[in-house]
Amino acid sequence: MSYVQNVLNGLIAKNQGQSEFIQAATEVLTTIEPCVAANPAYEKAALLERLVEPERQIMFRVPWIDDKGNVQVNRGFRVQFNSAIGPYKGGLRFHPSVNLSIIKFLGFEQIFKNSLTTLPIGGGKGGADFDPKGKSDNEVMRFCQSFMTELYRHIGADTDVPAGDIGVGGREVAYMYGQYKRITGLYEGVLTGKGLTFGGSLVRTEATGYGLVYLVEEMLKAAGDSFEGKTVVISGAGNVAVYAAYKATQLGAKVVSFSDSTGYIYDKDGVDIPYVEDLKFNKRGRLSEYKNHKPSAEYHDGKGVWNIPCDIALPCATQNELNEADAKTLVANGCKAVGEGANMPSTLEAIDVFLKNGVLFAPAKAANAGGVATSALEMSQNSARLSWTFDEVDAKLHGIMVSIYNNMASAAKEYGVEGNFVAGANIAGFLKVAEAMMAQGIV
Ligand code: NDP
Repeated sequence: MSYVQNVLNGLIAKNQGQSEFIQAATEVLTTIEPCVAANPAYEKAALLERLVEPERQIMFRVPWIDDKGNVQVNRGFRVQFNSAIGPYKGGLRFHPSVNLSIIKFLGFEQIFKNSLTTLPIGGGKGGADFDPKGKSDNEVMRFCQSFMTELYRHIGADTDVPAGDIGVGGREVAYMYGQYKRITGLYEGVLTGKGLTFGGSLVRTEATGYGLVYLVEEMLKAAGDSFEGKTVVISGAGNVAVYAAYKATQLGAKVVSFSDSTGYIYDKDGVDIPYVEDLKFNKRGRLSEYKNHKPSAEYHDGKGVWNIPCDIALPCATQNELNEADAKTLVANGCKAVGEGANMPSTLEAIDVFLKNGVLFAPAKAANAGGVATSALEMSQNSARLSWTFDEVDAKLHGIMVSIYNNMASAAKEYGVEGNFVAGANIAGFLKVAEAMMAQGIV
């Protein structure tokens, strides 16, 4: 049995019930097999066994009081997965589905994504099974303060720098930053995604969506194509989805959909993006309201966004939102390129369908790395006590996404799987972390 298979079997036995973590680890380990086989020293140093075991996993109680005076208790998490190339870095997710498996899968993916950005950041992730939906601002504030009252002792500008993710946007980051500062007395770059008046970076809000489109643009360019005149289907209606839609539109594409956890809209004339941005971010409303605004558009309850014919699909909602049947439908409808804005939105079977049918497929680790890359740029600005202009940060983001594309494309070519960017991104991300871990000894 190969070293990789052996480690995977051990991981599955040891992490029973953690299906998302097992899925993410299987995808990474099976695709890096050729470069692991070429480096026997890795096995001797138990490199993979160390790589799949988080350096530290923290779980904690988050008690808070709701507006009716009732005591609520949530579970908080921070998984500090790997610090070989820099301080732990990765978002916080607030969603009722959050559990240890989901945080571990996200933290594991983050190691390779952060390595791919070319910046010095390690991998981590955290969150809570708290649902900000339907809560008042005061309830969200009390929750964030209680969450940070425990988390603060585990993080710091040079140790672990959390950011946003699903359910954690500017409002939540600001409440958590206020509480961190109050407890520690430190005004430091400990969280990214901060407001512009207190250390945030221009472009951070737009970065993941913009970066996704920059990377897909590069992938299309290499194939002699572009966004110009293309029909784009986007799932999700949050931070990543909305800014991906803006950038794709700027590049000449027509975005015809958004989705949320209750349904999706199909506007064949092109979605009114500012309307959706205001509806979701300011009014915290539902997509079902879009039809009142534009009666010619369609709203459908439930899943089904992948049935809409398109040239390019950008899944930007959540993990495993695009399965094998969806992938087959997209291929049958003529979809030529897929870029993953969300983390692990496509199942392993769906990825297989895309690769077998010659669809250009940009995996999340590479495609959505623009968010964390710009977070690292925010850290640099905080350390230097200065701020760059929008155009400066945007140009750096664009440059990073082009480098990521080139790195994953050349790693795929070097290891004999040209055009397979899943393998290319995993190999390129892995090699840098592996080299650092080997150099640092058995730690
Ligand atoms: P938001 O909370 O801003 O938006 C998430 C969107 O996805 C919402 O429209 C939400 O719908 C929808 N959604 C969430 N869960 C489900 C579900 N189970 N089924 C269908 N729709 C769902 O999150 P982000 O845009 O920040 O994150 C989206 C994805 O991108 C996540 O996978 C995240 O990990 C990833 N990502 C985010 C980064 C960032 O910088 N924000 C960086 C890199 C990756 P509803 O409104 O109903 O809740």
